[in-house]
Amino acid sequence: MNDAFVTFEKVRKTYDGRTLVVSDLDLEIAKGEFLTMLGPSGSGKTTCLMMLAGFEHPTAGRITLAGRPIDGVPPHKRDIGVVFQNYALFPHMTVLENVAFPLDVRKLSAAETEQRARAALGMVHLQHLADRKPGQLSGGQQQRVALARALVFEPVLILMDEPLGALDKQLREAMQYEIKHLHERLGVTIVYVTHDQGEALTMSNRVAVFNEGRIQQLSTPKELYEHPQNAFVASFIGENN
Ligand code: ATP
Repeated sequence: MNDAFVTFEKVRKTYDGRTLVVSDLDLEIAKGEFLTMLGPSGSGKTTCLMMLAGFEHPTAGRITLAGRPIDGVPPHKRDIGVVFQNYALFPHMTVLENVAFPLDVRKLSAAETEQRARAALGMVHLQHLADRKPGQLSGGQQQRVALARALVFEPVLILMDEPLGALDKQLREAMQYEIKHLHERLGVTIVYVTHDQGEALTMSNRVAVFNEGRIQQLSTPKELYEHPQNAFVASFIGENN
């Protein structure tokens, strides 16, 4: 792929010097792609996102973003928006203040900060809740605020780790649609982590199936469903589908 926007090149990660959590991983993600990392618990998906976000560092290998190695670039300078399941909102701040928070380091005027935060809230249809506190919102609304906070500085890349894990089925499906629609509308690159096969198959351009720190198959949802490359992929995709 010539237009690779994100690359993992022989990336390896051990946490305690012994356990290999990510094993010589090679992956290229195109600009504007919606790529999902799918796999069972403990297969290394979150670790890959943490390394992309800059909260963890590869033990070996390198990661590039827009053609440049990112090791050594601090998280807030990577222009990456993150929506993690446990990435909680600040309870004492209003919705608007939460969304505006990432702009603090940008040294914008107060008026511009507010205007951008309101625009990001508009993208997730929550303008009317700007003055509430997170505790006064439903789980789905809180997750949308987290999404607005990730969108507010127009990131080049958005990382999402099980963003819908805490929601009930109906809300999860509505949010899946919303995220997919936002992706199509904004054309932003998204790397999405889930262990939910259905979610991966409906939302993604391509799916990377992980097991034990390795990619077992990387293909479109259709190929994955119709032609699983090995027994692990076949049984994992078959579960709950
Ligand atoms: P889940 O879906 O449960 O989040 P995952 O596929 O995202 O799983 P990771 O969170 O990347 O997997 O974890 C991979 C392995 O690395 C697991 O065995 C986990 O226990 C281990 N691990 C993760 N973070 C750390 C850490 N900070 N220190 C030590 N080991 C860790």
